[in-house]
Amino acid sequence: MLISYKFRLYPTREQEQKLQWTLNKCRYVYNFLLNELNQQKIIDKAQLQEMIVDLKRIEPDLKDVHSKVLQYENYRLFSNLRSLSQTKKNGRKVGGLRFKGKNWFKTFSYNQSGFAIMQNQTRYDKLWLSKIGEIPFIMHRTIEGKIKQITIKHCPSGKWYASIIAEIKEEIKPTENTNKVGIDLGIMNYIYDSDGNHFDNPRHLDKSLEKLQKRQRRLSRKKKGSKNRIKQKIGVARIHEKITNQRDDFLHKLSRYYVDNYGFIAVEDLQIKNMVRNNHLAKAISDASWSRFIQMLCYKAERAGCTVVKVEPRRTTQICSGCGKEVHKELWDRTHKCNCGLEIDRDYNSAINILKRALLSERQEYTPVEIEPLLSDEQVRSKKQEAPCES
Ligand SMILES: [Zn+2]
Repeated sequence: MLISYKFRLYPTREQEQKLQWTLNKCRYVYNFLLNELNQQKIIDKAQLQEMIVDLKRIEPDLKDVHSKVLQYENYRLFSNLRSLSQTKKNGRKVGGLRFKGKNWFKTFSYNQSGFAIMQNQTRYDKLWLSKIGEIPFIMHRTIEGKIKQITIKHCPSGKWYASIIAEIKEEIKPTENTNKVGIDLGIMNYIYDSDGNHFDNPRHLDKSLEKLQKRQRRLSRKKKGSKNRIKQKIGVARIHEKITNQRDDFLHKLSRYYVDNYGFIAVEDLQIKNMVRNNHLAKAISDASWSRFIQMLCYKAERAGCTVVKVEPRRTTQICSGCGKEVHKELWDRTHKCNCGLEIDRDYNSAINILKRALLSERQEYTPVEIEPLLSDEQVRSKKQEAPCES
């Protein structure tokens, strides 16, 4: 089983320059490989890999990047290609892969080798990266198992992070906990379960969201390319990052609570749930939060031997959990009131329906791994916008 950890890095100024330089070199190699791929009719992964070796002869400074890190760009490229063809299969119109500009290339990865972790007695631990050095960081969680991959990420706020994926070999016994629960995911981190418990967004998260909205409005008024705009942009990115951290913290606690208290957990299948596409910031963050919550729930559950079942969410709000009849509700109707006499909170009613549905279905789906998605900044170009170098 794979487990992922995330740590903030505190590089020295010199190390930071080196990180940035490496990032640029990786981007250059990625774009180079993509160009080769576009120009040659038949070429496979191994052949492209060899081109990196040739490229190094022409541009010797690439030798200052750990070789596996460069090879990883080849892997990334093919991984992006796979996901592109998947998108095509799903019926969406897409063109080819895009060349990556500076703002679309934020990570590079060490796979299997070129790194080490050094624990110190002092405040900082060190992450050694081949060709870069020993970067200070604080190991706030102990890493279990063998480290498989380390991805270095540069955030728009200017901060650097390391995502570490480790593998542990352990047998997992099913939990003896027989408690069962259904969970209804509402708007903005608002959750209701079939035992009648509900959890709100933490207040400080709400406050940060308000702040973000205010800042974003201010940003939209600034002139493009102006110094002020850049300053505002960094400000917005910082708040965004803070929200992500606060949210993750909340979602970790929430998912931990359910895994600790229940052996069987039913949630809505968000891939089926029609997530309205709109530009509303709060809504977008809320949708992203729930995907993340389910991801956390699944991997925690797997380790604890709990079962997570995802159910088709349609009509769980409308059906009466008492008698099974359909009771129409508008968005603003917060109470479920049925002729059979049942009168409970609308979301409580849904949560019970979700649990019922899960117990009926035998379908059990797991998302076992929480892994930094390789394709997070995968870009798919619509057919209308032509890239300059497409063959
Ligand atoms: Zn009823």
